[in-house]
Amino acid sequence: MERLLNMSNRSGPTILLDLQKADLRVDELTSIRENLIEREEIKKLNKRIKELRKEIENLYQEKHSTELDQKRINDEVSILTGKIKREEEKLYSGRITIPKELEGINKEVIFLKSKMDKKETKILELMEEIDENLKVIQLKEKELDSDLSEIKTKELNLTQREKEIDEEMSELTDRRNNLISHLDPEILKEYESLREEKGGRVVAVLEDGICSCCNMQLPSIKVDSMRDPNIFYHCNFCERILILT
Ligand SMILES: [Zn+2]
Repeated sequence: MERLLNMSNRSGPTILLDLQKADLRVDELTSIRENLIEREEIKKLNKRIKELRKEIENLYQEKHSTELDQKRINDEVSILTGKIKREEEKLYSGRITIPKELEGINKEVIFLKSKMDKKETKILELMEEIDENLKVIQLKEKELDSDLSEIKTKELNLTQREKEIDEEMSELTDRRNNLISHLDPEILKEYESLREEKGGRVVAVLEDGICSCCNMQLPSIKVDSMRDPNIFYHCNFCERILILT
């Protein structure tokens, strides 16, 4: 269906091309804004930060639990030290003279000392464990600090990119409103309904009888008839609006 252009508006086709250019840029910017790489990176970093915080919390809990074990064994060693002291005092006091009894006390001292040795070894192991634990905590905290600073930079970058896009969008909206004010409302309606239906590019240029959108060669009889700049032509194949050059 061909339609007559508003006679008072010979610049309609050029305006349509400019309008399409603005709208395509808006489409492009909308997609760029939605898919800004920083947003995905921030999401990943936030996930990593959450995991790191949890890991650090667990490491501190482990450290605390090891410290409690260490304290408990320290207390046991103190009790053992007291017992050994008391037994040795008995042994060397001269009050006990029966050899069998003395031998019994001696055996008890040896047993208590071996028990204490084991506990002291365990304490050393726990101290090493706490040291190792602290080293890992420090590494993770360093990693967390670096991630926190990285996310801050990325958030700033994202805000900056969004701001730039929004500024260009606002300029495009102004340009669009200006173009529309010079366009026949009927043509605008047609253009917008085509854009809704097809999306993207709906205005094509006819060059050497070929539609610039679908690249189809229009029948020469139609091309020959397309001489009137006041007529609103459509491509036979893709039905887009054709602008004559
Ligand atoms: Zn076409």
